Amino acid sequence: MATGYVYHEVFAWHDTGTGAGLFASDPAAGVQPFMHFENADTKRRMHELIVVSGLIDRLTRLRPEPATEEDLLRVHTPGHVARIREESADPRGGDAGDGFSPFGRGGYEIAALAAGGMIEAVAAVVRGDVDNAYALIRPPGHHAIPSTGMGFCVFNNIAIAARHAQARLGVKRIAVVDWDVHHGNGTQACFWDDPSVLTISLHQDNNFPPNSGAIEERGEGAGDGTAINVPLPPGSGHGGYLHAFDEVVMPALERFAPDLILVACGFDASALDPLGAQILSSATYREMTQRVMRAAERLCGGRVVFSHEGGYSPQYVPFCGAAVIDTLAGGPEVGDPFLPIVSGFGGQGLKEQERAVVAEAARQHGLITEGAAR
Ligand code: ZN
Repeated sequence: MATGYVYHEVFAWHDTGTGAGLFASDPAAGVQPFMHFENADTKRRMHELIVVSGLIDRLTRLRPEPATEEDLLRVHTPGHVARIREESADPRGGDAGDGFSPFGRGGYEIAALAAGGMIEAVAAVVRGDVDNAYALIRPPGHHAIPSTGMGFCVFNNIAIAARHAQARLGVKRIAVVDWDVHHGNGTQACFWDDPSVLTISLHQDNNFPPNSGAIEERGEGAGDGTAINVPLPPGSGHGGYLHAFDEVVMPALERFAPDLILVACGFDASALDPLGAQILSSATYREMTQRVMRAAERLCGGRVVFSHEGGYSPQYVPFCGAAVIDTLAGGPEVGDPFLPIVSGFGGQGLKEQERAVVAEAARQHGLITEGAAR
């Protein structure tokens, strides 16, 4: 088994400035200079753990090339691509689109390399060079819609790679499973009326973007039913997420029968994340990864590619990320010193409110679930 791995040091040079979390520093408003939530630490430290733990020796390094303008324009409007390129040339940098997503000079080139990293990961799997792959890329992508970036995302890496796979690699049907704690609104928007791409988002109910990701959002036209949303209540843990997998994600994948599965892999549903209120541990990420691999094995020759999205705990993201990659590469071999603490948090079991949301999402999409069969 070979697992491909993409990382480039320049991803850590994507400069989100010296604001405090979300806001540019502003003494009059009491906002002191500090760090953006989406700073380099989580991803850089995850890469370092992958190297120091020896996990890197079990992976096949893939070299990212920048996505071309043609690649970007399969998903984004010419106006968005041109604006990012223009602001990126300005020594003061720019913003992806919502005022909360700053980037420094050269941000265009780094974002294009992130998208290109995901393209290469997908291409390596489709070519058969590797069995599966993980793209540890930055900036993230799943909030970017065709006309603008937002939510720290400049270009929609996973959508760009999916379109590349369809246009250049002969892949027809693609399923995207998004377990970032925030709604995968951008990816959903890119394929809203497209029946060839299934998007499934498990996210915290109404976190970000505001009023996005309700169960009733399901695509339209030819794409009706190919957007699936499971807005889990805050406090959801191991039991709730795995229940959503068993009752919605797995049957939906089975029914859709994709040629390729992509995972929008955020770690901000972890128990130690400052931007989410869920309580997942590395064990949950490991088990969700196993389920996706099992589905890929059954449906599409094991072809699954992970695209790194959010995750804002510099202490914990590395262990959750290593658990996913370790699983892809046939582990468990890499440990998690936080696991005894986090997995013992109250609320890890399936709760009634979570069961109700999952049942409603399954009902909305006519999925035959174990619950219905009983
Ligand atoms: Zn997120």
